[in-house]
Amino acid sequence: MRLVTAISEMKALAREARVQGKSVGLVPTMGALHKGHLSLVRQAKQQCDIVVVSVFVNPTQFAPGEDYDRYPRDLDKDVSLLGDYNIDTVFAPSAEEMYPEGFQTFVEPGPLAAVYEGACRPGHFRGVATVVLKLLNIVQPDIAYFGQKDFQQAIVVRRLVEDLNLSVRLVLCPIVRDDDGLAVSSRNVYLSRDQRKSALALSQSLRKARELTHAGETDANRIIGEMQRVLQADPRVRPDYVALVSPATLQPVARVTAGTIALVAARVDSVRLLDNTILGPAGTSQDELLQIALSAPAVTTTDARVPGIDAEAVLHKIENCRDCAAISTILLPPREFMAAYLKRDYPDLSVVRAAVIGRHSTARPENSFYRSSGCPNRFVTALYELLGVEDFTEFKKRFILTDIIRCHASGPRIPDRALRNCTRHLRNELGLFPNLDTLIVLGEDAYFGVQQFLLERPADQVQPFSAFMGSHGWVEEHAELSFLDHRPIRIFYCHHPSLGYQHSPSLASALAE
Ligand code: AMP
Repeated sequence: MRLVTAISEMKALAREARVQGKSVGLVPTMGALHKGHLSLVRQAKQQCDIVVVSVFVNPTQFAPGEDYDRYPRDLDKDVSLLGDYNIDTVFAPSAEEMYPEGFQTFVEPGPLAAVYEGACRPGHFRGVATVVLKLLNIVQPDIAYFGQKDFQQAIVVRRLVEDLNLSVRLVLCPIVRDDDGLAVSSRNVYLSRDQRKSALALSQSLRKARELTHAGETDANRIIGEMQRVLQADPRVRPDYVALVSPATLQPVARVTAGTIALVAARVDSVRLLDNTILGPAGTSQDELLQIALSAPAVTTTDARVPGIDAEAVLHKIENCRDCAAISTILLPPREFMAAYLKRDYPDLSVVRAAVIGRHSTARPENSFYRSSGCPNRFVTALYELLGVEDFTEFKKRFILTDIIRCHASGPRIPDRALRNCTRHLRNELGLFPNLDTLIVLGEDAYFGVQQFLLERPADQVQPFSAFMGSHGWVEEHAELSFLDHRPIRIFYCHHPSLGYQHSPSLASALAE
C-alpha cells in the first residue's frame, strides 16, 4: 500500500493503472475512518483491480465557525486500518497541495444543493462538488464510492457527473450503523455518553417513519409529525430539518411511495448529526431500497403519483383478508392486477380517470386482461368498443379494469357479506388513483355491489337491474364518495359487454364530455 501526498504522483499511478488495463475504484473520505468508510472500501475491493482511498479534510466544504479545525484527524490510524484491506493507494494530500495560492475556480451546484444541508450549511456543496471533481480528475477512477449516509451529497455528485459529462460510475452503499442503531460517523467521537444516548433519537425517528409506512400510512405530514415527536422527546435534541423527499428531486412529497427518503438532521447539544432512511414496503432489503430510490423517475408534475407503499398496503390487505373465510365457496387468491400489473401498466397513477368495474376476473388465465396486456377476446373487443379505445395502450392511458369482487366465487350468486368485504377493498383500490372521476359499471352484479356497498343504499331501495336500466342503453348517475375525497364522480351503468342479450352503445362521446 502506498501513501501518496503529491497530486503529480497520484496522477502518475492512476495513469500507470490505466495503461495496464486495470480498473480503478476511488473511495473519497475525510479520514477518521470507521466501519462505514470500510464498507465502501470492501465494496470497491470487490469490484475494482486497484482501490484508491483519499483522506482529505476539505476546508472549502466547511463554513466559517464550523468544526474544520477540530475535525478528527489520525492518518496513521487510518493507514493501519486500510492495511487490513490490501488496498493499493491512500491519497492524503495537504490543503496547500489541493488549494495552492491563487486557486479560484469552484463548481457551483444547482437547486439540489440549495435545500436541507445546503440551506443549513451555505457553501457546503460548492466545496464538496469542487473537491469531488478535483479528486475524480486526479484519480480518474472507473467507479467512485459514496455512502447513503450523506444522501443529498450523493445526489448532488450524481448531478455533477451528469451535468459535466464525467465518465465515472457512482456506487452508493447503504448506511452502516452501530448495534444500537446510531449511524456511524466520524463526528460521533464528539459525543459524550449521555449525548450518544440522545443521538439515538435520530435513528428512532426514522424507525418510526418505517413502522408507520409499513402499517400503510402514506401521509407525509402525519409521518413527519410523528418523527418530530420522537426527536422532541429528548430536550438535548434540536432538529434542523425532518423531511420526506423524492430521491430524484429532493423535493418534499405529500404522500410516501416506495423510494421516498426520510431525511433528518439534528443537533445533540452542539454536535450536528445526519441520518436518513429509504421508505418502502416491509421486507425490502436495504440494497433493493437503494435501487428503487436511485432509479426512481424524476416526477416533475406535482400530482403525478408512482405506485408504491400505498399500493403495497392495499394489496397486503387484500391478500390477508380472511373476512370471507367462513363462506366455503370463496377462495382468496392474491389479486393479480394489484400484485403484478399495477406497477407495470400504471407508472403514474394520476393518469387514470375511469375505473371499469366488472363482476370478477375470469378463472381462465389465458383470458386475464392484464396478463395478456389487453389482448382482444370476445369480452375485450366489446369493452374497447364500449369505451371507444383502439387497444390496450390507449386503454391504460385513462382506464383501469377492476372487479366488484376481489376474490373468486364459484357459485353464481355472491353472498352479500362477501360483497361487502370485497367492496371495502375496492374502495381502497380506487382510492389509489388521485384523478379518478368516473366509474363504469358492467352488468347486474357490479350494479348491485356499487349501489349497496359503494353508494351505501339500503338493499330494499335498490331497484332490480332490468327495471333500473329500462330501455336505456346506459344510465348515468352523479355521486360524491367519501373514499374518493368527496369529489364529484360520474357513474355509468351498462349492460355487461359479453354476458346476456342486451348491449350498451359506445360510451365514447359521453366519456369525452
Ligand atoms: P466522510 O469521511 O464523512 O466524508 O465520508 C466519506 C464517505 O463515507 C461518504 O461517501 C459517506 O457518505 C460515507 N459514509 C460515512 N458514514 C457512513 C456510514 N455510516 N455508512 C456508510 N457510508 C458512510
